[in-house]
Amino acid sequence: MSVSLQFQNLRIEGSSRAGDASWFRIHPPGLAFDVGRGSLALAGAKEIFLTHGHLDHSLGLPFVLSLKKMQGDGATRVFCPAGTVDGLRRLIEAAESLEQVAYRYELEALDPGDQVSVGRDLSVEAFATDHIVPSLGFHLVRVRRQLKDRFRQRPAAELAALRETGIEIEDLNPELWVTYCGDTGPGVFELEPRLFESTVLMLECTFFDEESRLRGQQFKHLHLSDLAARAQQFRNRDLVLHHASWRYDEMAIRAAVARELGGLAPRVHLMMD
Ligand SMILES: [Zn+2]
Repeated sequence: MSVSLQFQNLRIEGSSRAGDASWFRIHPPGLAFDVGRGSLALAGAKEIFLTHGHLDHSLGLPFVLSLKKMQGDGATRVFCPAGTVDGLRRLIEAAESLEQVAYRYELEALDPGDQVSVGRDLSVEAFATDHIVPSLGFHLVRVRRQLKDRFRQRPAAELAALRETGIEIEDLNPELWVTYCGDTGPGVFELEPRLFESTVLMLECTFFDEESRLRGQQFKHLHLSDLAARAQQFRNRDLVLHHASWRYDEMAIRAAVARELGGLAPRVHLMMD
């Protein structure tokens, strides 16, 4: 089961519940943020970015690589926090041994600030998050091109000729298009304040009721009150909440969001199974 959200020319597909499975595909460029316990819908992803090694986010990696092997796809680029690379490699190798095949993949550790190109004018940048195991979050950065003022009135043929000569006729404006936080406690708001500026912010929110306040702190997850305390800071056009605990149904979550987040609530979307 998966759900899909459309934001103009951006589509987010995925499924997410705490302790069960979390995975997303972001179109364009079709990359995967986390892989849950594996899904057929992940087979088309050329790049996979893993936030951390907890199995509800990472176990599906060998399954996805196996699917792609069967489909004869090219190599998959897999990016992960530095502290998870050895464990993931052993997980993949165990699966290769069971299936007696070799998957086609490259596994690369990222540190906060590292950037990876994922298409024309699109790149992913890693940032630090606040979880109980090594973890990262990711920005999908889009470069928006705009003709420089002095070229605005020129005919298309002339612009093409200028381009040919290597003259830069456009201004390049990078935009934090999508920001994805996997599991994280509220420390992420101090670690990466730029997330408040992202156009679409995908934020985990695991707990919604008073009784669960301490659980969030203990396991480094977000509680709705962590968002409510910062409701004025979210400048995002859209806020996508994911990773809700199964103890809450969708109606209860929508009611809590409307009650606790005030003016922010109309910009909040839910992504869950
Ligand atoms: Zn986790």
